[in-house]
Amino acid sequence: MTTLTGDPEVRLGAFDEWMGAWSPSTPRDPGELTAWQLDRAWRQAETFGQGNPFYRDRLRPPPQRDAEAYRALGVTTKQDVVEDCADHPPYGSRTVVDTADIRMVVHTSGTSGQGMAVYALDSADLEAIVRTEAVGFLWAGIREGTGVLLTLPIGMTAAGLWYSSALRAIGANVFSVGPYPTERKVELLRQFQPEVVVGTPTYLQRLAVACEDAGLPPETSSVKTLIVAGQAFSLPWALAIETRWGATLYEQYGCTERAIAWTCPGGVVKGDSLGALHFPAESGYYEVIDPDSSEPVGHGEIGELVITPFGADASPLIRYATGDRVRWMAPGACPCGRPLAGIAAGEVERYDDMMKIRGVNVWPASFDRAVFAVETVSDYRGRVWVDDDGNERVEIRAEGEGDHDALAEAVSASVHRVAGLRVEVKIEPAGTLAREVPEGFVKIKRFQVETLR
Ligand SMILES: [Zn+2]
Repeated sequence: MTTLTGDPEVRLGAFDEWMGAWSPSTPRDPGELTAWQLDRAWRQAETFGQGNPFYRDRLRPPPQRDAEAYRALGVTTKQDVVEDCADHPPYGSRTVVDTADIRMVVHTSGTSGQGMAVYALDSADLEAIVRTEAVGFLWAGIREGTGVLLTLPIGMTAAGLWYSSALRAIGANVFSVGPYPTERKVELLRQFQPEVVVGTPTYLQRLAVACEDAGLPPETSSVKTLIVAGQAFSLPWALAIETRWGATLYEQYGCTERAIAWTCPGGVVKGDSLGALHFPAESGYYEVIDPDSSEPVGHGEIGELVITPFGADASPLIRYATGDRVRWMAPGACPCGRPLAGIAAGEVERYDDMMKIRGVNVWPASFDRAVFAVETVSDYRGRVWVDDDGNERVEIRAEGEGDHDALAEAVSASVHRVAGLRVEVKIEPAGTLAREVPEGFVKIKRFQVETLR
C-alpha cells in the first residue's frame, strides 16, 4: 500500500475584511504593521543570508534593524533571477526545496526579452499566495457559489493559476474559459450567467463588443462585477466600462515575484478619483523608492515598487526591484480609510515602457490621460514611426461616438495639451479596435514605437 501525502485544498479560515488579513495577531495600527512587516523581512534576510546559496554571498545584514539599513541591502533584479535560473537550471540556486515538496511551478512570460524567471512553491507558499489573492476577490464580493468567468488562459504563468486557486479556495464557481475563442466565451457567459468577469481592460472591451454582436448587450447580462489587471487605465475609461457593462470595476496589480495589491470594497472608482490598490497585510514588505537615489518616495509620489514577499520560502526573494512605476499611497490615504499602504489604481506602468518621441520622454499613461479625457472616446491605439523623409510621426487611431472630424480635433488638442506633442488622429467606427484584440491574456500595449535607432 502507498499512502500519498500530496496537497490538501488550501483552507482559508477566518477573514479580517478591514485588514485584508487572516491572522488575528497581525497588527492593526499602521505604524505597528509596518514595523511587524519590516521585522519579518529582516528575519528572512538573515535566514537566507546564512543558508541560501544565491543570497549567502549577497547579503551581509548589519547589526541595526531599521528601514534605512534594510534599503542598504541592495535589490535583486529580474536579470539576477533569470541568470541564476540559466546557470542552475531549471529553478536557480535560490530554490532549495526538495522536488517532492514542490506544489506549483510558475514562470514569467518572457515577453520582456530578458528570458524567463522560474519560481517553485511549496505547500506553505501556495497557501500564502492563495490567501493573498483571495483578499481581493473577497473585497470584490465573491463568496461561495459566486459565478466567475475567468478569461485568463491557465498555463505556467502565475496570474491564471493563482486566480483560479484562490477563487476555488473561496468556493466560487469558476468558468475557466481562457482557451476558448471570444464567441464561445459569450455563449458560456449566456449559459452560466456569471456575476463576475476577470480579464485585462482591453479584453473586457473585446468581450463587450462580442456580446453586442451576439445580441447580448453587456449591460443586460448577468455580470455585475468586473476585475481587471495588467494594463493602465484612467477614470473616464473606468466610468465608461462600468456603464457599458452595468457593473462595478475592481483592479488587481500583481507580479510573479509576489507583489500583489487589490481594490478595496466598493470598487476602483472612489468619488471623482481612482482609489488605492492595497497591499494585503501579511503578503510582504513593500517599498516604493526613487530609482536614482534609492530613497523612499513620499505619499502621492512616483517611484519603483520593491517587494520582499512573505511565504515565498521555496524560491525566496529579498528586495526584488519590480521595474514597475507606481504612485505610493500612504496608509489611510484611500477614501476607504484602511490602515494599509498601497499604490494608485489604474496607473501602474513599466519603467521599460517610457517612449522617446522627438527627443521628449513620454509615458504611455499621459496618452491614456489625454485621449480618454475626450468624451465618448472608448479606446485608441498609437503608433510612432519614421516616414520616408526621415520625419518622426505619431498617429493615434481612436474610436468614439459622434462627428469624426470634431472628435479627431478634440483628441489632437488634448494630446497637445497633456503631452506637448502634435499627433495625427484617425477616428474609427466603434468596435473596430476591440475586434483587433487577440484572444487570451495578452498585455496589450496601446502604443507601438516603430522608431529604430
Ligand atoms: Zn481603499
